[in-house]
Amino acid sequence: MEELDQYLIRFEEQFTRNGGKVIWAQDALEANEAVLKICKEHQAMQVVKSKSMVTEEIHLNDFLAKNQIESVETDLGEYIQQLDGEPPYHIVTPAMHKSKEDVAKLFHEKLGVEPNLTPSELTLISRKNLREKYTSAGVGVTGGNFLLADIGGVCVTENEGNGRLTTAFPNVHIAIVGIEKIIPSINDLNLYWPLLATYGTGQNVTVYNTIFTGPRKKNENDGPKEMYVILLDNGRSNLLKDVHIRESAYCIRCGSCLNACPVYKKHWRPYLWRYL
Ligand code: SF4
Repeated sequence: MEELDQYLIRFEEQFTRNGGKVIWAQDALEANEAVLKICKEHQAMQVVKSKSMVTEEIHLNDFLAKNQIESVETDLGEYIQQLDGEPPYHIVTPAMHKSKEDVAKLFHEKLGVEPNLTPSELTLISRKNLREKYTSAGVGVTGGNFLLADIGGVCVTENEGNGRLTTAFPNVHIAIVGIEKIIPSINDLNLYWPLLATYGTGQNVTVYNTIFTGPRKKNENDGPKEMYVILLDNGRSNLLKDVHIRESAYCIRCGSCLNACPVYKKHWRPYLWRYL
């Protein structure tokens, strides 16, 4: 974090060398407008999205909806929350507050399927609906769990494979990532990947860990033709100015503290979401 500025420049150099494009966004509006501009350039009226808290921070889905672009959440928990018109309840497990009966009722009401379906049946319905979206969307949007300065890589960690589908089919991939997500080297993932998985979900390592270093290469059959990384500030530089508050930028969004703190979970969290 002390050398953030140097690592970000290094990331930009490396990512650009691999054919990617970097956009620096000062705030939420700049980031949202950059996404909209790319969508318009590619005549994309539909976006598929993997789970990303930074897109919740900038309210990307609402912004795109106001501009007549449908943005579809592809993580199962996020898909459930989007169907219900709610923001994610938890940064790692967005629909953890809903029972399987709640989800069956929701799918019945919103998708017109039989009531009282089992979790397996509900998952198959989501999979069928979402697979159609992957192949029709013009743009895939992800966040990034880490940015790798040395190779110009964007790391995406997930358990469902929806992130890979989001980035494999659409012609354009946009990764929106907060500037504090930078780490110096690919070698640092030895620490960070297990750290994130262990504290996030109790796994030794998450099921799918992908490093994106740019758009599709000449000899590759799939992947986006264009890839953008939007580096979002949105107030982070102000936090970094204070050496004590700067420590808050060390957070890797594992979500562990949300699980442990009942006061935060029951009282502060719903309050914060309502007013963010
Ligand atoms: S503050 Fe710590 S425990 Fe909480 S999400 Fe961030 S890294 Fe995880």
